[in-house]
Amino acid sequence: MLFRTVVKDEFRRLIEIMLASHEVIGPRKIDTAMDGRPVHQFLPVQSLAELDLDYETTGISAKTYFLPYKENLSVWRFDADDWTQEISYRLQPRAIIGLHACDINALLKLDKVLAREFFPSPYYLSRRNNTFIVGIDHEPCQGAFCRSLGTDTVDRGFDLFLTDLGDRYFVAVGSERGFTTLNKVTVAEVDEQDTADYLAARRKIAAAFGPDLDVKLLPKLMDIEFESPVWDKWGAKCFSCGSCAMVCPTCYCYGVSEQVSMDFTRGAKVKQLYSCNLVDFAVVAGGHNFRPQRQTRLKYRYYHQHRGFVEAYDEPKCVGCGRCSRVCLGGINPPDVIRDLLEEEARS
Ligand code: SF4
Ligand code: SF4
Repeated sequence: MLFRTVVKDEFRRLIEIMLASHEVIGPRKIDTAMDGRPVHQFLPVQSLAELDLDYETTGISAKTYFLPYKENLSVWRFDADDWTQEISYRLQPRAIIGLHACDINALLKLDKVLAREFFPSPYYLSRRNNTFIVGIDHEPCQGAFCRSLGTDTVDRGFDLFLTDLGDRYFVAVGSERGFTTLNKVTVAEVDEQDTADYLAARRKIAAAFGPDLDVKLLPKLMDIEFESPVWDKWGAKCFSCGSCAMVCPTCYCYGVSEQVSMDFTRGAKVKQLYSCNLVDFAVVAGGHNFRPQRQTRLKYRYYHQHRGFVEAYDEPKCVGCGRCSRVCLGGINPPDVIRDLLEEEARS
């Protein structure tokens, strides 16, 4: 990997250059929470002034720019004796500025399922390939446990990755197009002082994390504690609203429906993201529900995150971003559920 430094004024110029040719998405402050903390979302920006790179987290992850909540897979129309079908993939170049390491790691996990499996999704691939990604280092967010899951740092999956050194950014170049784009502005080779400042910045970030959660045994624990009362305790708090999966950067379950016009001449095949916590998630033809109880649905959500995905891809699906905890009206959060499982195991 190549490293460069760029002074902040030059980086601003780089964003201006990108705005001319890309749809630029970045963290924007949209509100203030009741506790006084700013609320950010990834939204299109028209100018640099709208970007706030010094953000903690966003309510909704950037997943929505790769896996929209709702999209037409195809639209069709009957015309006399013939019919036509249109399938379109988004091709407009896009840049997402300011993704944190956990969110880039989340995209790498989605890639495994949606881009590298036997049947890659062309819809996902077109967006992924046409999105220029600029990541940025940051101090730990409240409630995040990314370091426990090894997602607090990232070394691929981006075009450029920034670490703030005060008057300049230390830039890791992660792709050829990142290199070409960065060279549109004035950059400098990294010297000894830059390296020392970068390592000091990384040490400061590492020291700001709280104690790690011990997740090494978690995949086995999910099997051992399959019938644990821990699932009843946390399941009783769940409203089955599905919000956790909607904000999660790695949840990708979906349903497909046909929407047909009243005169049966036009229609669309519509894909919509779904959540395994919703009451009808496991309903099959004939009406039988394989998971009628909310504690069972909650358990399987954790089981997929920390057991099933590990079996399929050798790593957990969860990146520890903490978004599901923030949005959950029932006060359910993964670190507490995992601690309960660990304590339950220690007692037995
Ligand atoms: S956000 Fe909370 S209450 Fe809603 S489905 Fe998820 S765990 Fe249940
Ligand atoms: S399960 Fe929760 S903490 Fe883990 S990646 Fe999804 S939203 Fe983030």
